[in-house]
Amino acid sequence: MAVISMRALITFLLLTLGFASWGSELRVAVSIPPLLDFVRAVGGDRVEAELLVLPGEDPHTYEIRPAQMRFLAGARLLIAVGLGLEWWLEDVVSAVGNPDLEIVITSEGIETIGGDPHIWLDPLNAVLQVATIREALVRVDPAGRLTYEVNAARYIVELLRLHAEINERVSGWSHKEFVALHGAWAYFARRYGLEQMAVIVPSPGREPSPREVAKITSLVRKYGIEAIFVETQYLPEVAELIAAETGASLVFLDPLGGVPGREDYLGLMRYNMERMEEVLR
Ligand SMILES: [Zn+2]
Repeated sequence: MAVISMRALITFLLLTLGFASWGSELRVAVSIPPLLDFVRAVGGDRVEAELLVLPGEDPHTYEIRPAQMRFLAGARLLIAVGLGLEWWLEDVVSAVGNPDLEIVITSEGIETIGGDPHIWLDPLNAVLQVATIREALVRVDPAGRLTYEVNAARYIVELLRLHAEINERVSGWSHKEFVALHGAWAYFARRYGLEQMAVIVPSPGREPSPREVAKITSLVRKYGIEAIFVETQYLPEVAELIAAETGASLVFLDPLGGVPGREDYLGLMRYNMERMEEVLR
């Protein structure tokens, strides 16, 4: 009788304390939604992933929350893009003071364009990032090697399929030039033969001068550029002005996703391709 009630008590405690703290999941923090998707694709049930820059937030102006600091205190990996996108990384890691926390920079080994951090917007860069994540997971959790390798292989097939699809669609477009409000699309452009003719807001938070706006406006006219890539996170007034003066169309893109309808990376990239296609086809 005493044995049974002790068992019942333990069961009760486990249920009320929650399985998460009892389970052996690996705690992994990621900076942006595409990395969350990659970690979930590779890690599956073995990983408890926490997103830092939430959907709709701008990584360039992100500030960490106390609950996220607590997660990092018990985390094994922090997976980032690097190239200055996580400008807060060093300060946060030293404030957390968790000696078991390993930082994984997924831009390592990727050929960058002038230090531009928006590497994930080229699906073939995403393949390399997924491989880096797979290696990190195997390193800290060797018992999960088979799971991580099979999952990564499966997901890379999806990424390659996405790449082939975008490549085929873009090759049929009659317009290749665009102007971007925020310079997120250089890697996508390089991969698929589009041409980013100018960036309206050269660095986050800096307004272009009237002279710069006039220069871009005349560039759009001169080359007959049809598309101005904008993002809902950034105020598009300047882009609206240029569009009104030149007849170019605003193309609303999303480099980060994580919002309904484009929670996952594959869906996000197809969404962006389709928005571009409406104007560049
Ligand atoms: Zn950006």
